[in-house]
Amino acid sequence: MSEDSNPLKAIQDRIFSVSTLTDIEPSLLELIVQPERILEVSVCLKRDSSELVIYKGWRVHHDTSRGPGKGGIRYHLAATVDSITALATEMSLKTALVDIPFGGAKGGIACDPNQLSEHELERLTRRYAMDIYPMIGTYRDVPAPDVNTNEKVMAWFADTIWAFNKENTTSVITGKPLALGGVLGHQGATSLGVMITIKNLMAKFNQTLAGKKIIIQGFGKVGGPLSFLLHSAGAKIVAISDVSGAIHNRFGIDIPALSLFVKNGGVLSEFRQADKIPEKQFWTLETDLIVPAALENAIDAEIAQNISSKFLVEAANGPVTEAADQVLKENKVLVVPDILSNAGGVISSSFEWAQDRQGYMWNAKKVTDRLADKMSQSFEEMWARSQTSKISLRQAALVIAVERLAQAHLYRGIFP
Ligand code: NAD
Repeated sequence: MSEDSNPLKAIQDRIFSVSTLTDIEPSLLELIVQPERILEVSVCLKRDSSELVIYKGWRVHHDTSRGPGKGGIRYHLAATVDSITALATEMSLKTALVDIPFGGAKGGIACDPNQLSEHELERLTRRYAMDIYPMIGTYRDVPAPDVNTNEKVMAWFADTIWAFNKENTTSVITGKPLALGGVLGHQGATSLGVMITIKNLMAKFNQTLAGKKIIIQGFGKVGGPLSFLLHSAGAKIVAISDVSGAIHNRFGIDIPALSLFVKNGGVLSEFRQADKIPEKQFWTLETDLIVPAALENAIDAEIAQNISSKFLVEAANGPVTEAADQVLKENKVLVVPDILSNAGGVISSSFEWAQDRQGYMWNAKKVTDRLADKMSQSFEEMWARSQTSKISLRQAALVIAVERLAQAHLYRGIFP
């Protein structure tokens, strides 16, 4: 096991690593690092064949000092208690950094949803919702979609909670369909946030996206719409990869054609208007910008060593290992950290929560304008802190987030 292959240890080490950049007492930092509570459940599913299967599932509250827990629900075979707790920790940092009234939480089931029928997926979701019910509530913990979950899963989850509560509290979960109190533009909010971040980054160097060569790992809910936005802004997506493999076209991939191909059931790596390339080659391509938008730990030290790009914007959660981060720093690759760049989704979730509690839906312009304001304001704060303290953007983002968490703990005091 490599030094930072445990995601929980990696994020905790990262938090401890900024201790010398703040005045926070070591004991308080220790309190901030530890998760508040972890619920592990055995999620029982009766398959369509009547076979009984039991999956491990979790819901973790990392820190709720600034507001209710907030974080997605992930269905993935690689989910473990440590990976979910690491992601919950990231959520506490993210909500603090972009200053929305939430804490950090995360949940998931260690399963492969692609092996389940739609009815099985619904039963699994409802059972899981029932299992973690004591953790959930408008002012306790408000879940959202993550890898392999979507608005349909959120609707089943919400319906189950409402059945138990005997009341229809739409604000108990976000990422819902519009018909159930969802927010306009939620599905593209993370990608839009990443796009705004990339534009803000380019502006710092008096550059625009026109003609920029970009590679993106992941063509899912984040990577898909993001590649479309970048393509529309005149950038050249020269390579893109997903779980099926990587493809390359040095003149730029026709993203609308690729989207249509995949939407119609095509496998990304078989897209004819680009060449299939090995994953190793994918990372070494000469580009201006790299955007990992798939899973955590995608870029290790070996991959990082061969990255020639000037910029790397983390769209996925935790895509760069600690060792890789050091290599990128030495090689002068400027990294924009995940807790800033992919915060568009949770910001949009906070709007959905606010709307649902208000009982008044905002129009698309209001949602987009406020999202852009929040993203840009947070970017500027991170940038300024990085400049004044002469630290990396990741360190600056962490310091701001950890200081906000510390402040909340100090004001609340220790009960009793
Ligand atoms: P998704 O399941 O919709 O898409 C994941 C993509 O990654 C797919 O294209 C998949 O094929 C690809 N992938 C998986 N394994 C791969 C591999 N080994 N090599 C290359 N590609 C691989 O998930 P998503 O919602 O797009 O999330 C992607 C990342 O962004 C995750 O880290 C997630 O936690 C993070 N994130 C998502 C949101 C959101 O709103 N969806 C918000 C914040 C952060």
